[in-house]
Amino acid sequence: MNLIQGFLEGLRPIPDLTVDEWADQFRYLSSVSSAEPGRWRTDRVPYMREIFRKLSPSDPCQRIVFMKGVQISGTEAALNCVGAYIDIAPSPIMYVMPTVDMAKQLSKKRLFHLINESPTLKDKVIDSNRREGSSTLLEKNFPGGVLFLTGANSASGLRSNPVKVLLLDEVDAYPLSIDDEGSPIRLAEKRTTTFSDKKIFLLSTPTSSGSSVISAELAETDERVYKVPCPHCEHKQELKFENLKWDKGDFASAKYACEGCGAMIEEKHKTQMLLNGEWEPTRPEMSIPLVAGYRINSLYSPLGWMSWEQIAEQFIKDKDDPILLRTFINTVLGEPWEDRGDAPDWENLYARREQYELNKPNNSVELITVGVDIQAGKDSRIELEVVGWCRDKTSYSLDYRTFYGDTATPDGSAWKQLEEVVNEKWYRPDGIELPMMMMAVDSGNHTQTVYNWCRKQPPTKVIPVKGREQQATIISKPSNVDVSFNGKSYGKMKMWNVGVGVAKSELYARLRLTVDDEGKLPSGYCHFPEYPIEFFKGITAEELKHRTHHGFRKLYWEKVYERNEPLDTRVYARAAAAIVGIDRFNDQHWDNLLGRYKVRQSNGSVPVKQEPTKPKRKKSSGFWDGY
Ligand SMILES: [Zn+2]
Repeated sequence: MNLIQGFLEGLRPIPDLTVDEWADQFRYLSSVSSAEPGRWRTDRVPYMREIFRKLSPSDPCQRIVFMKGVQISGTEAALNCVGAYIDIAPSPIMYVMPTVDMAKQLSKKRLFHLINESPTLKDKVIDSNRREGSSTLLEKNFPGGVLFLTGANSASGLRSNPVKVLLLDEVDAYPLSIDDEGSPIRLAEKRTTTFSDKKIFLLSTPTSSGSSVISAELAETDERVYKVPCPHCEHKQELKFENLKWDKGDFASAKYACEGCGAMIEEKHKTQMLLNGEWEPTRPEMSIPLVAGYRINSLYSPLGWMSWEQIAEQFIKDKDDPILLRTFINTVLGEPWEDRGDAPDWENLYARREQYELNKPNNSVELITVGVDIQAGKDSRIELEVVGWCRDKTSYSLDYRTFYGDTATPDGSAWKQLEEVVNEKWYRPDGIELPMMMMAVDSGNHTQTVYNWCRKQPPTKVIPVKGREQQATIISKPSNVDVSFNGKSYGKMKMWNVGVGVAKSELYARLRLTVDDEGKLPSGYCHFPEYPIEFFKGITAEELKHRTHHGFRKLYWEKVYERNEPLDTRVYARAAAAIVGIDRFNDQHWDNLLGRYKVRQSNGSVPVKQEPTKPKRKKSSGFWDGY
């Protein structure tokens, strides 16, 4: 039987076209789908040629790992692979996006264009409109094969039929584990085990080093970088961000300093440099047969896509904000962000305490939020921090309070004291009255008591929150929770999930900020009054650790000092500020906020007159802008 099958397969001509040759001959891009319509040209992205060769049916390579910056060509390259296999080596193919919704989007837009704009594909892929039932949005039939599209969030999608070609796109956005079956990547890979000539293509921009799948996968390869020759001295080198130079404030002057001769290379030479580049392994000792790993940053982005000028400008814009800087490093440099696991030194923070009066915000403070932690049990108490926020996210700790008393029932004295904080006001020297704008109350302990107490407060000022370590944003869409107390139901209320891991990472990055070269405090700097030593040990009480989970490194926070309430209360006060909108506020938003505050007339000082203007809002306004 096998002999006959082998004989029959032998009759089928092994297609000798490579993916890049196929794309250069048969792939067309229309003006609808591309800024550069016309025939696909691999020469536009010469660094992709070797990757296309490895992906080609005639090449024995089975596993190709590609970690990249933005504006490099990732999904388009994967689509070339899809097109080539449909056309010249039909087989079962699976394309996995982070979610099923994203897979549908890919199918409706980019895959639709790939099929309809490439004449040889158009006739092969059976049109779902023409032959109902044979093709759907997530399943495309063609002679000799089928293309499945699915999301890494769908275990059933990943468990479908055997596939020979597996494309795993944006893997760093995949969930770590689904339905207790472990990594979606491993689950998808099981589909390929029956094929001895399988192809697995993993591609992504990276995220944090501890949890980045693509960087972990790349670490198992010989990690190739693209070396390009200097137009002046021919020295072949990898383009690195640290060699990009520009005159202060003049991003258009950005040039590349050659590592060989020191000459400044103008970007206009890039096209020629890319054409003459070649991949070179950085760790040849890690070379494994049938596996190839590649990494490339956005400095290589072809002329007309992302320029060196844009990269320089983006860097200056992002460098002082730990969260924006992290995004820059991930998306532009195509490198994982190194999460610093260790906590900032509490000794340093203690040593730099400032002499300012508690509850006396200065004139730069424009928003006050409160983070509340509820402690149950023997030392039952409420702890809270009052935080004053400035326009540039600089913060002033205005007070740290502990209310002792029973927290199990909402009638306890501690809750009464907390209620007073809801209506508290603070005054700046210029007379502006700052109200308590938003209070976030942890609902981890005495959950129903917290809900019940919050229910009686103004919902625009007090919200229950729940910490979620793995959530990637500081706040996510609120969920509706049932409120019931003493057997009585009080209906539903909104509970907000807080990404405590990302908030702690941001706080630690800000606690590490120091005065810059010009003696100025950077934006985001955290000011503290003369609190006792326990506060500073508390706000640095946890460290980020790694552990391996289903073959992947996973990050988690571990207490290194027992009394971590100051860290929790700060995280919740930060979440409250995020809910007010601090992360999407522009100057107009801030001016508006300031314009709404009352001014204390008896103060004697001249009140600041603020003219409220209507801030420009995106169509869907609300708390979710920018998330
Ligand atoms: Zn040179």
